[in-house]
Amino acid sequence: VNIDVPGYGQPTKNRLRLFDLASVDDGLVPGSSIDFDKTKIAKNLTLFLYPDDSDEQGRLLRIYQEYFMVSNAAQLLIDEAVERGSNLHDLADYAVVQINDTHPTMVIPELIRLLTTEHDIEFDEAVTIVRSMVAYTNHTILAEALEKWPLASLQKVSPAIADIIVKLDEVAKAEHDDPRVAIIDEHDTVHMAHMDIHFGFSINGVAALHTKILEDTELHPFYEIYPEKFSNKTNGITFRRWIHGANPALASLLDDVIGTDWRSTGDLSKLAEFVDDKDVLERLAATKTEAKAIMRQFMALEQGVTIPSNAIIDVQVKRIHEYKRQQMLALYIIWKYLDIKNGNKPKHPVTIIFGGKAAPAYTIAQDIIHLILTLSQWIANDPDVAPYLQVVMIENYNVTAAERVIPAADISEQISLASKEASGTSNMKFMLNGALTLCTLDGANVEIAELVGDENIYTFGASSKQVEQLYADGTYNAGALYRKPGIKLLVDFITNPAFMATGNAERLQ
Ligand SMILES: *Cc1c(COP(=O)(O)O)cnc(C)c1O
Repeated sequence: VNIDVPGYGQPTKNRLRLFDLASVDDGLVPGSSIDFDKTKIAKNLTLFLYPDDSDEQGRLLRIYQEYFMVSNAAQLLIDEAVERGSNLHDLADYAVVQINDTHPTMVIPELIRLLTTEHDIEFDEAVTIVRSMVAYTNHTILAEALEKWPLASLQKVSPAIADIIVKLDEVAKAEHDDPRVAIIDEHDTVHMAHMDIHFGFSINGVAALHTKILEDTELHPFYEIYPEKFSNKTNGITFRRWIHGANPALASLLDDVIGTDWRSTGDLSKLAEFVDDKDVLERLAATKTEAKAIMRQFMALEQGVTIPSNAIIDVQVKRIHEYKRQQMLALYIIWKYLDIKNGNKPKHPVTIIFGGKAAPAYTIAQDIIHLILTLSQWIANDPDVAPYLQVVMIENYNVTAAERVIPAADISEQISLASKEASGTSNMKFMLNGALTLCTLDGANVEIAELVGDENIYTFGASSKQVEQLYADGTYNAGALYRKPGIKLLVDFITNPAFMATGNAERLQ
């Protein structure tokens, strides 16, 4: 299937190409379950974007998925280049492949396979061609997200691809005899990112801090070999979705106040001239009220939740992960609950909204979600606190939900453990829609803070340097922190018998 993607106010368009198999069978998934027969590749290949890969069959399915997408794209790319006049020796003049995270890494051996077996190009030349036409974007330093596949698994999916990877490993080892940069390690595990870096002409991180961490720490041995390949490309978001589309009231106010150029240039700096303009500020506040009304209606319709019209909207929406620290916001909720219970009633009711998905086999993420849901129910059932505090979990958080909730937010929670969030993008979406950012100095928050100035952002917590130092020293002691009275009170709340009886005791424990 092809989908045209037009540019804003442009005559040209890009083409998005989607690949699927006619043999895929929806009937393999019973009801809303995520369990299915993972051995039937022809029937299940594209049923799930990220199938559970906690077992061997799941991992094989992932490799089949990745290889299917990459092979389709590589064949299409070659056919289109030939159509446009390439003799394939000059393929690099016709196409560049941006390897977006490690998932499409097999495009490197696949292009080499196609050039050598179907187009009569010698192996060495094919390697040279591919080396000048692929580049790699790194999206994370989390070890569990950097793909490493057993060579034997790759052999099962495609012996031809595995053979080429073995040869590429030999090329890389001949050039750089250092086990830290090997593609295939001593356990016959293939490090996909290492293949990208040796055989790509460029590698980038997605925020200034992230790129610096890649260069200085995570990918330092590669930076020593190829300093010229490294650069930063800080992530961005599209105004068309996150202002024009998601926040029409704000968009037309901007048109009115600063003209319509911002829609194509993204330049909002003229707005600063109105910093003391009472009329503009009032109209700006009215756009927030309007966005809240749309969000409240969405939540009422989708999941029957009533959110007070005068509530402060405090939002953390993003994948559920320990490093993003939804659990820390949950501890804050317990603190706020106890504070209200002690008679400190807030002037405005506060609604804290969570939303997010998690990897299917990530048990701790499920436990964190369960804690949030139990808090939501516990607080709703307490008449002393419910009028002042509400906790909402968005069901099936996705881009549609994000487009409703982000424009409505007063507070944007960007509270990852410094050094762990490569960039973040919802930080940008919220800032653009006039939420106040509460954040650690992580990922692109650092650059946002530099741009808006300290007086327009609320930062806290350890710096990435301090976090790295704690790892280096091995001195971080969660037990000692837990035993501090302020924190012990909050953590122990989770395991008090009445609270555990509200939820699932085992998960809360
Ligand atoms: C923007 C967005 C994300 C990414 O959020 P981060 O805070 O950058 O992790 C995830 N899911 C949806 C639906 C989004 O719109």
